[in-house]
Amino acid sequence: MIHFDGVSLITPILYLYSYFSTFISDEKMKRAKFLPLRFVVVATLFIFCGCTASRDKSYQQLMNYAETVKVINTHEHQRNPLDMGYKSYHFWVLLSNSYLNADVVSAGGKSFTLEQLNTGTPDEFWASNGEYLSFCSQTSYYGQFMEGIKKCYGYNEPAFTPEGIKTLSQQIENSYHNYAAWFDSCFQQAGFETMLIDQHWAPFNLETDKTYFRLVFPVNLLVSNIGNARQVYTQQHHTFKTFSETTGIQQINSLDDYLHFADFMLQSAIKNGAVALKNSMAYSRSIYYENTPGEVATELFRKSPGLSSSENKALQDFMFHWFLRKAAEYELPMQIHTGYLAGNGNRLENGHPIHLNSLFLQHPETRFDLFHGGFPWTGEFTALGKMFPNVYLNLVWLPQISKERAKVTFNEMLDTMPYNKILWGGDCHFIEEAVGSLEYGKQVVCEVLAERIAKNEMDITTAQKIISAVFRENALQCFPRLLSKNQTY
Ligand SMILES: [Zn+2]
Repeated sequence: MIHFDGVSLITPILYLYSYFSTFISDEKMKRAKFLPLRFVVVATLFIFCGCTASRDKSYQQLMNYAETVKVINTHEHQRNPLDMGYKSYHFWVLLSNSYLNADVVSAGGKSFTLEQLNTGTPDEFWASNGEYLSFCSQTSYYGQFMEGIKKCYGYNEPAFTPEGIKTLSQQIENSYHNYAAWFDSCFQQAGFETMLIDQHWAPFNLETDKTYFRLVFPVNLLVSNIGNARQVYTQQHHTFKTFSETTGIQQINSLDDYLHFADFMLQSAIKNGAVALKNSMAYSRSIYYENTPGEVATELFRKSPGLSSSENKALQDFMFHWFLRKAAEYELPMQIHTGYLAGNGNRLENGHPIHLNSLFLQHPETRFDLFHGGFPWTGEFTALGKMFPNVYLNLVWLPQISKERAKVTFNEMLDTMPYNKILWGGDCHFIEEAVGSLEYGKQVVCEVLAERIAKNEMDITTAQKIISAVFRENALQCFPRLLSKNQTY
């Protein structure tokens, strides 16, 4: 299906005109022998321009459609600015809390402290990091951050400049004076319906504002602390004290006691509307979890604390398998960080998605939601989604890491697996970045779908179904507790 519009027809018409005028005016027909070749060139150009116009038109049509979808953002870390300790909010505070900051530091810039951000002047910030920020102008982090700033503040320069930043800083400060209203307006304007929030900075805080968020319970702490559980979870620990008052268990003496405590946390999270669990342990260890037998774990726990690192790992591995069984029992999909790690220094191999393969074989009843395209192992990541019915693949953060790889990966996902298993999320600490992430996510998805339409591989109706699926419908299927009776969906 090839569509032409007025503007795109100009180029091929000019070529055709040139071709026929030459033919008519050349009385000796010297060029006649080149006519077939020239015809092929002209016809190719004509078709190429027509296809490009068709793709651009479909892309715009799909982007317009995407604006109508109420988005379920499957992963966020939105912070309350009042909790962060900043005296005021300006451009450099937002930048310092964005992913882009890692690129600026990588280029040679400084990572500003809270104190510096509270006392520095715009000129000082620019003198220190301006040039390094400019070096990042081609990264996806930069592009996604810019998209959010454009959408939320109407910034219309192609790059961040000293003067542009000063104006922006004033806008940011004014907006953050009433952050609740500002957040709400950005949230509504972007078309979000809800965000699944992982409060990694306060993992036992089960409270969240259900107007905007649904709780995801992070399991990292209960897995990583198991070797020191007797020391960590005592009457001095606020959450353990609540557990004690509820159950009468005064201290943790055995693995059973610890599992009882962990189960109490899970049930409390469910009462507070939790819809999923989250493992982001690749930031501190490998995501390879061996299957430690229960009797071995019981004995290791009895010996704890003071375990060797391999004994500690075996106990953590047991605990994560326990969570996976509970995840199936409570219908809480397990979200898992795979691949590249944020920041400026960590062990990339920790998050290799292939490490998870044996978990999928051992826990067919548990639903997994794999994050970030497993970048840079996007092919392995996609293959795991193809192999296992219980494995969903989440584009979350991938368009920000590399927009081009996100397009390749999304295209491969469409080639290799049914589209009802593809999810999207933002993964940001501030609303502006989440808005930019959504824009980038939509651009990636719509560009790939428009290419397929231009190649006659897909019709517009199917493309629209896929957009709804990725940004909304698949989340409703993947997370059954989003649809529970006492919720608003
Ligand atoms: Zn995250």
